[in-house]
Amino acid sequence: MITSNEKLPLKVLLVEDEQKIAEFVCSGLQQRGFVVEHCQNGHRGLELAERGGHDLIVLDIMLPGRDGLSILKALRSRHIMTPVILLTARTELGDRLAGLELGADDYLAKPFFVEELAARLHALRRRALGTSHDVMQFGKLCLDLVSRELRHGQQTVELTAREFTLLEYLMRSAGQVFTRSQILEHVWGYDFDPTTNVVDVCIKRIRAKLASLAGGQDLSAHIESVRGIGYRFQP
Ligand code: CA
Repeated sequence: MITSNEKLPLKVLLVEDEQKIAEFVCSGLQQRGFVVEHCQNGHRGLELAERGGHDLIVLDIMLPGRDGLSILKALRSRHIMTPVILLTARTELGDRLAGLELGADDYLAKPFFVEELAARLHALRRRALGTSHDVMQFGKLCLDLVSRELRHGQQTVELTAREFTLLEYLMRSAGQVFTRSQILEHVWGYDFDPTTNVVDVCIKRIRAKLASLAGGQDLSAHIESVRGIGYRFQP
């Protein structure tokens, strides 16, 4: 399976003038596999952010040269949409709100644990991928995670929300068999009557859509019924 936009390691720009915080963030993130570029001055921070090449930006608010909020404002006004997490002091509630209004994606109040920063960065990255052009591809068959369309070459078919969630679930672990109750729980999100046939009905509709693609080739065979157990996606 190829998922586009999966770039590792994640590159982070850290703009922070407090030496101690900068050191602990740099080493903490590096230990967790991030690549960190650090600068201490606001003007330099904006320059580096504009030059690009970062997946994420960690931005302090009080900085020499130019403050974090004005850097954020400048970036967003120039349509640079790299996800930004603001570092704020506990007392800077007004700044925090202003930051979110200016287009910050998240904020973290000092002091914080680097584990939490790393987790927030991963979450932001996932969110950013969700809004970019992300696809799952198996040969010519392609599931567009943004438009929720299923494509085969030039042909396209739209999926309903449930069909999309179910197919994505199977595709993410292609080859693995999922029981009806696993699928129910993932796609419908709560306990259904175990005798319900919503899963089978939904699978049937996805198969029909697969079959409607690609002319003579029967793509519906990608979804296999495993007797007595459930279903799997076979690439
Ligand atoms: Ca500062």
